[in-house]
Amino acid sequence: MGTALREDELNEDAVRAALKSSWLGRPYHFVDSVDSTNDQLKRWAADPAVPSGTVLLTEHQSAGRGRLNRRWEAPSGTSLLFSVLLRPGWPARRAVWLTMLAGLAVVEAIEATTGLHPRLKWPNDVVLGEDQTPGNDGGEDRRVWRKVGGLLLDATFNADGRLESAIPGIGLNVNIPAEALPHAFTPATSLLVAGGRPVPRRPLLVALLECLERHYDAAASGQSPWHLWNERLITLGRTVQVTAGDIGTLVGLAEGTDEWGQLLVRDEAGKLHAIAAGDVTLRGH
Ligand code: ADP
Repeated sequence: MGTALREDELNEDAVRAALKSSWLGRPYHFVDSVDSTNDQLKRWAADPAVPSGTVLLTEHQSAGRGRLNRRWEAPSGTSLLFSVLLRPGWPARRAVWLTMLAGLAVVEAIEATTGLHPRLKWPNDVVLGEDQTPGNDGGEDRRVWRKVGGLLLDATFNADGRLESAIPGIGLNVNIPAEALPHAFTPATSLLVAGGRPVPRRPLLVALLECLERHYDAAASGQSPWHLWNERLITLGRTVQVTAGDIGTLVGLAEGTDEWGQLLVRDEAGKLHAIAAGDVTLRGH
């Protein structure tokens, strides 16, 4: 299928010729298959000569990962599957900024190249509302949100508590046909299924890397991405069920997030909980 689509090729020559970024995606590496782009880039990152900005993209992962060692499944040649090596040197708690930056870049690049309007589901899913009709925003509560992409951040810290390396990994369902979508707890979709037409992957990848560079440079100069990220979340103002290791299961109102990306959930007894990581289900459909 991909062969018929113009600008779908993601090999090194094609991407290098199209990419206008100044450091992110330089170098850009393409491999047909790998266990996991995050795991491979982590191995490369042990060599300090591998620069910040290095990107590794593949057509197929034999052991693609989500959080908590969950599997990421994607038929070969249908997706964007890549990871970026960053060497921020930022204070450790800013690691969450990288998850925010990656989420923003994915959302903005999809908007710019397809006209679809993805959102983020806390903390790291990229979702599309089933009803994309303009002017029907009042129906947001009744929308079915389907997962079109996922983000995964692997980070290492040095002895001074600084962020030594950060590897955001991105899996984006671009041209997966409906019958090949994985069966997942949060229903999956692809840009092809949601938009009704195949999406050439190269302009999408290039836009994504350029957006990520722009947002990263702003963050590196001290500007938090929190506000921009927060605006893209679907989770806020909704009743949610949260399952997290330290609190068990909690039902409450998602009132917002704090500047470190923690989800603020008020339980039925009125107590506010700040949740750093967990699984969230939207309730009240
Ligand atoms: P979550 O944060 O929602 O738990 P992760 O980001 O950890 O999800 O991703 C892993 C989960 O995503 C898997 O357990 C599976 O249910 C789902 N999944 C796997 N591959 C895909 C895909 N290509 N598209 C959508 N969902 C997927």
